Amino acid sequence: MVDALFVDSQYGNVGRIDRLHPLAGLRIALDPGHIGGSPWDERTGKYIVDAKGRRLSEGIMALQIALLLENDLKRLGATVLLTRRNLSPVTDADFAEYEKENKTEMFFRKADLEARAEKILGFRPDLTIILHLDESTPSEDHEVEHLKKRCNDTKAYVPGAKPYAWEESIRLSRHITARIHQKTGVPLMEQVSSVGSHDGLASMIRIEPGVFARNLYLQRHLGGLVSSYVELLCYEDPQQLLALSTHEHSMKIDEKYYPYSQRLLDLVDAVRDGIVDYQRDEQL
Ligand SMILES: [Zn+2]
Repeated sequence: MVDALFVDSQYGNVGRIDRLHPLAGLRIALDPGHIGGSPWDERTGKYIVDAKGRRLSEGIMALQIALLLENDLKRLGATVLLTRRNLSPVTDADFAEYEKENKTEMFFRKADLEARAEKILGFRPDLTIILHLDESTPSEDHEVEHLKKRCNDTKAYVPGAKPYAWEESIRLSRHITARIHQKTGVPLMEQVSSVGSHDGLASMIRIEPGVFARNLYLQRHLGGLVSSYVELLCYEDPQQLLALSTHEHSMKIDEKYYPYSQRLLDLVDAVRDGIVDYQRDEQL
């Protein structure tokens, strides 16, 4: 629905925008990182437990964010794809086979990511948002009290090479991380040397605070689509861990209820608003 004549004084543009549906016509792919829940958390190592036994699973939180975000984006007029909607791998490959051959890393880092890329490419999105939460532990010790270093920032990655849509990916990432910072107070990651994302520091290039280029497998396989790989915040940070561990809300996934926090909703709002900001600016 077009409901207003829009005049932008700064640029002198005159056009019609749909204020109720600012994302009308936009195709958005959402990829919730990892898988989540047992036994996948144990297999991927993407979870932490604090001294009080509070457990946070990155794969579950990323999925909850994607499902909530999907509703918001649809309401604003977008067509949305989620690469997964439950706590199962995206690939049809047999995990047991990979395990038998000691290739479990290949299952997660190749087979599952390839399946995600294939789904995204098939959808032909205008924008792709890859959703992750960060932690800095490379060890097998998931108890947060034992972590030597803790990260506390937000950042987004754009593809490492300069394909078509590199600039758009930077602008999209800029808007999303700015909104996360605004909504949660979590600082933008300033330097490559910040703690976190332990396995990729050497291959990261700083574009600006909160936005970095990195040669990540999934983005490399998206064929130059506009994409932002967002590490929304560090869930091992004591303040964030506490905020994310509250159970104000819950949702059903795989026939089971999973609680989530107001902080998670803050992140959904922030990503949604960042996408709307991006789209508004691109249309000027
Ligand atoms: Zn992750």
